[in-house]
Amino acid sequence: MSNYHIKNLEEYFTVYRKSVRYPETFWDEIAEEHFMWRKKWDEVLSWDFSKPEITWFKGAKLNITENCIDRHLRIRGDKTAILFEPNDPSEKAEHITYQQLHDRVCQFANVLKEKGVKKGDRVCIYVPMIPELAISLLACARIGAIHSVVFAGFSSNALATRINDSDCKIVITADGSFRGKKTIDLKGIVDKALETCEGVKTVLVAKRIEADITMKEGRDEWLQPLLNNAATTCEPEIMDAEDPLFILYTSGSTGKPKGMVHTTAGYMIGSAFTFKNVFQYRENDVYWCTADIGWITGHSYIVYGPLANGATTVMFEGVPSYPDWGRFWEIVEKHKVNQFYTAPTAIRALAKQNIAFVEKYDLSSLKVLGTVGEPINEEAWHWYDENIGHKKSPITDTWWQTETGSIMIAAIPYVTPTIPTFATLPLPGIQPALMDADGNELKGNQVDGRLCIKFPWPSMARTIWGNHQRYKDTYFSSFENMYFTGDGAMRDSVGYYRITGRVDDVVIVSGHNLGTAPIEDAINEHPAVAESVIVGFPHEVKGNALYGYITLKEAGESRNQDNLRKEINQLITDRIGPIAKLDKIQFTDGLPKTRSGKIMRRILRKIASNETDSLGDTSTLLNPEVVEDIIKNAL
Ligand code: ATP
Ligand code: MG
Repeated sequence: MSNYHIKNLEEYFTVYRKSVRYPETFWDEIAEEHFMWRKKWDEVLSWDFSKPEITWFKGAKLNITENCIDRHLRIRGDKTAILFEPNDPSEKAEHITYQQLHDRVCQFANVLKEKGVKKGDRVCIYVPMIPELAISLLACARIGAIHSVVFAGFSSNALATRINDSDCKIVITADGSFRGKKTIDLKGIVDKALETCEGVKTVLVAKRIEADITMKEGRDEWLQPLLNNAATTCEPEIMDAEDPLFILYTSGSTGKPKGMVHTTAGYMIGSAFTFKNVFQYRENDVYWCTADIGWITGHSYIVYGPLANGATTVMFEGVPSYPDWGRFWEIVEKHKVNQFYTAPTAIRALAKQNIAFVEKYDLSSLKVLGTVGEPINEEAWHWYDENIGHKKSPITDTWWQTETGSIMIAAIPYVTPTIPTFATLPLPGIQPALMDADGNELKGNQVDGRLCIKFPWPSMARTIWGNHQRYKDTYFSSFENMYFTGDGAMRDSVGYYRITGRVDDVVIVSGHNLGTAPIEDAINEHPAVAESVIVGFPHEVKGNALYGYITLKEAGESRNQDNLRKEINQLITDRIGPIAKLDKIQFTDGLPKTRSGKIMRRILRKIASNETDSLGDTSTLLNPEVVEDIIKNAL
């Protein structure tokens, strides 16, 4: 039996029990057997959630890039590490082997060194989904610099805030990016941002769209000539287990983004172990995660987790709708993708399109489907299962957060039986707890509460950059000796977890606690509905009442809206109960989303409560025009 790669349910339970009873032995064995160390640890774990202070593998020395690259060279030197699929389908895909990745990472690392970047310095990476993006993360890690990737769709304001918050002296970017039919002037955005970032002395620019851009003398330099002159070897900086590896800002769904700090050894072990199990990766599989590396999903499951396992990981530059809505499936067929990982928002958008876009392609290579980011509703789950997986590829609904670094609760495909909308069981080493409002742990099954984690796991964030107090207040102050996730969940009769939504979004109607996800799930069952959000608003009698924002599929748009409202409320009554009926239903053309594709409920909550003059931090909002439209038509 291996602790590292679980192959059946009995093994899962055995490994899980061991990981709870003897967590230190469990992680110690995994660390010992599956990774490369310059020096082993003196102590596996010490922790104190009251401070909070968490240390894993104290005294160990390593470099994560040796684990992700060097150790594979002997047996996988010619294997494709990164398979780059460009925005334009007629441009050739690029296969970067482990050996080539090694050379390119070393060259990049040498350039950074030459520019004066040292261990512990922060490097801002604002690069689109081209190979230089993955390579720049690894180059930072090679020399012990802390990378702070900012999604290359953020505005100059959002970029400037993040550069200043983590005090970066250098920015890596590109002359522009391709997104479907459009090109984006990234360098222009950087220039604008840097007007308010005095600390930045160097900007390295990758060439992608051949745009005619202005280079600021003494500050900006083209990357390629520097790389061409750099050596293809670079001694890895030897890092302490707890040295920071990167800073990454959360999506900003609930408020001001937080700069989460992840450390080297624990993050490596967490992302690698979960990648292996949750995607059941086997040698020679081709794995594809559609996220952007600007999010934690891309960090852990495009770059570090797959590469630590010697996998082939696809990096896609484009968008699902270009040149048409068949693009994802075309790529699956073309590269014979075995594991496919995406988000509910993408699945819902794809499901709205003509099924002919799917049927054109051979998807028989797929073995595992994954989803992450938001609760997935049943209708989307079934669409994914039937049309993409042809009911033979298990769907793993993976619950986790920027803060957790790696997947926490998810089905292990071919091991854990799945149920739509359930994230199912905790992975080994993860100890969830559900708490009531008074701070008592809800024991046993068939309970519903606030989701906490009661024991440390290696890949947890150690602090918020520059603000340890906020880290403590946000995650460790609600419940004693617990990490509080901010999410609500229920545990069913067999111990499966279902995420019911964010705790802040729970609405109390006539004294009943209503989670948002199950109600939205019921609404989305209506054949005319594409997406929905419910929020509470003050009500004289009930305390709160429910306001629904609903977008329709094209087929539903011509229907009588009053009838639709009645049918939707009938569905809710049947599935949940009359208590959850919506007082107001507003049909809209779109919903406000974060740039990572998540619905921004707090904005809708403000609109429903008539507080439109205080919408809060909107720096991560993707579509402000939708918000204006919703305000104009509010009920
Ligand atoms: P912020 O913390 O800035 O408000 P965010 O929480 O959206 O932003 P992320 O760390 O990207 O930032 O997202 C983690 C959250 O996404 C989780 O706390 C949860 O609410 C939601 N989530 C992620 N995966 C799932 C899933 N499989 N099922 C349900 N919810 C999920
Ligand atoms: Mg969050």
